[in-house]
Amino acid sequence: AAPKLVVIGGGFGGATAARALHRAGLAVTLVEPAEVYVSCPFSNAVIAGLREMDQQRFGYAGLRRDGIAVVHQAATAVDAAARRVTLADGTVLPYDRLVMAPGIDLRFDALPGYDQAATEAMPHAWKAGAQTLLLRRQLEAMEDGRLVVMAVPANPFRCPPGPYERASLIAHYLKTHKPRSKLMVLDAKDVFSKQKLFEQAWAALYPELLEYVPLSAGGKVTEVDVAGRVLRTEFGDHEAAVANVIPPQRAGRIAALAGVADRSGWCPVDPVSFESTLRPGIHVIGDAIIAGAMPKSAFAANAQARVCAEAVAGLLRGEAPAAPKLINTCYSIVAPDYGISIAGVYQPANGLLTDVPGAGGTSPLEAPASTRRAEAGYAEGWYRTITADVFG
Ligand code: FAD
Repeated sequence: AAPKLVVIGGGFGGATAARALHRAGLAVTLVEPAEVYVSCPFSNAVIAGLREMDQQRFGYAGLRRDGIAVVHQAATAVDAAARRVTLADGTVLPYDRLVMAPGIDLRFDALPGYDQAATEAMPHAWKAGAQTLLLRRQLEAMEDGRLVVMAVPANPFRCPPGPYERASLIAHYLKTHKPRSKLMVLDAKDVFSKQKLFEQAWAALYPELLEYVPLSAGGKVTEVDVAGRVLRTEFGDHEAAVANVIPPQRAGRIAALAGVADRSGWCPVDPVSFESTLRPGIHVIGDAIIAGAMPKSAFAANAQARVCAEAVAGLLRGEAPAAPKLINTCYSIVAPDYGISIAGVYQPANGLLTDVPGAGGTSPLEAPASTRRAEAGYAEGWYRTITADVFG
């Protein structure tokens, strides 16, 4: 019989994998509860009022048109030994190989006071959708002259430059709409992605307005008091008119249920085939994996999905997969017409994806406004291209 392929999760990783497996001539079922996927890339611009939510929404008609069976259910169990996935409605899907791309879950056991209920008062907005709009409305409703506070987690987490892009765009919103207000960024680390470029842009565009507090200066939030609107650190309390708390994360819950997540909460994989090192026959891609140097980005999830699909198709033919090279580029917008980027090339080494020495880099530190404007344009172009590739 023809081999059966199941993909769990219809985000940047899973939808790409389903399409690539289908292109390889395989019969694929994609399992995704949401009928509309809401994209995180560019959602920081929605928070800042620079963009509307309809540019973030994507349906699955394109995948269906290709001939992929899309089932709008959540996977609730995976039996790796019997090679079966169970869905919320009780349907059982047998598979020969399973690809899982469940993204992240927010950890509500990691930051005292920050539980599911707290997200309604202090949005994380780290999964795009209602949370994105809630944070935007809170900023719009805030009186001028008040304090916005962001709490940023330690590594690893979804989208390493994302909190700093968000800080930049919230600062831009305040500068243009509530100029007497301030933004404080409390960070649980001292070093972050594209740091020099961000700090240079903040000094030029948002001096006085944006205060960045690294771990060593008391940036780690240790407790949240939702009723008092207070973020607590070892160095003191900060009362926020608007608080954006990005909590620590782990792989989407189904990964642990399937037995592919380890004690860190993330999924170890073979970096050549993306097959789980814990459960044979299951491949894991995207934000959920322990990828070494490769960041948790939509660009990376898309690249990993292609490599994984090729490896799966080969394994089904009895061929050993060849060691891949993967590329990632992450753009950040720090103001309208001001974009910066970081790029890397990765290859398997010692069970992880490691940097190819000498490849990649960031935008130049010294550059004219025309370079920054061009990069903001490349960011838009990247978004149009990847979303068309994944969902179009
Ligand atoms: P996701 O895209 O989250 O997809 C996971 C899917 O799995 C979801 O649709 C979910 O519904 C589904 N799922 C979960 N559990 C189950 C289950 N049990 N059964 C079935 N389905 C399930 N990346 C970039 O490359 N560039 C950017 O500019 C960028 N900006 C960002 C800005 C912000 C503010 C944030 C938060 C992230 C940003 N990212 C960016 C990161 C990017 O969003 C993620 O890296 C990317 O979405 C990861 O893809 P994924 O497929 O692993 O997970």
